[in-house]
Amino acid sequence: MDNRKCKNCKYGDFQNESKGVLHVVSFSGGKDSTAMLLHMLELGMPIDEVVNVDTGMEFPAMYRHIEKVRAVVETAGVKFTTLKADKTFEYYLTRHPVKHRNPEFAGVPGYGWPGPRTRWCTGTLKTNVLRKYTRDLRNAYNVIWYVGLAADETARFLRKNNTADDQRHPLAEWGWTEAKALKYCYDHGYDWEGLYKLFKRVSCWCCPLQSLQDLRQLRRHFPDLWARLFELDAQQCRQRFTASDSLTQLEARFALEEERIAQGLTINARAKEFKDALAERLQKK
Ligand code: SF4
Repeated sequence: MDNRKCKNCKYGDFQNESKGVLHVVSFSGGKDSTAMLLHMLELGMPIDEVVNVDTGMEFPAMYRHIEKVRAVVETAGVKFTTLKADKTFEYYLTRHPVKHRNPEFAGVPGYGWPGPRTRWCTGTLKTNVLRKYTRDLRNAYNVIWYVGLAADETARFLRKNNTADDQRHPLAEWGWTEAKALKYCYDHGYDWEGLYKLFKRVSCWCCPLQSLQDLRQLRRHFPDLWARLFELDAQQCRQRFTASDSLTQLEARFALEEERIAQGLTINARAKEFKDALAERLQKK
């Protein structure tokens, strides 16, 4: 047998010919990895394990979706592994001992809200957890990783973590775009209870890096989670939720928008009329 290649998928150019091959699917629960996983099962492609990294901050509907897929995977006789960091998002946000660069926060625990240049959560809650697990797997096997990158996600293909030799991107190989992946999921009865109809990007509900429109939708459709954001905000050290706005400012803006829509007035953020009304509203805060 040529152990430099997997005999089932003919993929690989493995350095260590004495180790067996392990086919592992990286499953976030999102539309792309869901479509990839389900279609791989449908095609009878080799899968030894499905790995999901849980940040603890997914939407409740996402957790229900993951459980639904887990049942399908386990029924197919495939191992489903959930990985989680030792400590929670809330712990790192509010209690983890941190040396802040800003002297204003000296001695205050917690990283504060993640920002474009301080995306601590991706490393702490996802990448490091997965890296530790994959190190052990790679020691034991020649691992082939299946990652759900769609054919039209060209920018993501260039990222360093997506160019490893042992990665495969079945969606791209099939020519499936993000839209096709979502349609495939809908056609097979997976709808995330409407999350993809509400949000452009479905990730942690608490993410300050999501778009303004997604935050607007969070406030409107998930008032309990919106309220929870304020509870977390009260415990963390940084003043602003996003680079430009505190949660209080966002709340004021979204409330003003709703009032103006009801009155038939513009909510165009570039219109002077709206800008003046917002400035007046924020002054009162
Ligand atoms: S989605 Fe946002 S909050 Fe969640 S890990 Fe990524 S950057 Fe952090």
